[in-house]
Amino acid sequence: MMIIMCPHCGGLNRVPAEKLSKQPTCGHCKQSLITDKPLEMTGSQLNKAIQKTDQVMVVDFWASWCGPCKMFAPTFAQAAQHFSNSHPQARFVKINTEQEQAISAQFGIRSIPTLAVFKNGQEVDRISGAMDLTQFKQWVSRHL
Ligand SMILES: [Zn+2]
Repeated sequence: MMIIMCPHCGGLNRVPAEKLSKQPTCGHCKQSLITDKPLEMTGSQLNKAIQKTDQVMVVDFWASWCGPCKMFAPTFAQAAQHFSNSHPQARFVKINTEQEQAISAQFGIRSIPTLAVFKNGQEVDRISGAMDLTQFKQWVSRHL
């Protein structure tokens, strides 16, 4: 069993690992539990996801005034789509560091974009600066 957070209502769902690839739906809102798009999250939603789910969270800490962040956004979205089939337990999350200053401080985000991977309740990797799609996919793959 894996605990998966619904991308729509934020509800937690227990899903057998083998059913993850069979389009499971949320027990609360009945929408799909798997998404192939990056998800905008608040700091409290991200903390809940890190602490309470069995998902690998790949997080893009960004800001609207940051040129490299904007350039990297399509790469992040392509990776989210790429991994949604092979690794539906991975979730690609965007944190707007201007709006979510508390969580940016909590994780000590000093430069953006910063990309971080959280797994089993803790941060397992972090890199600052944008990557191209090939590099980014390789970096994410190491943690899946
Ligand atoms: Zn739901």
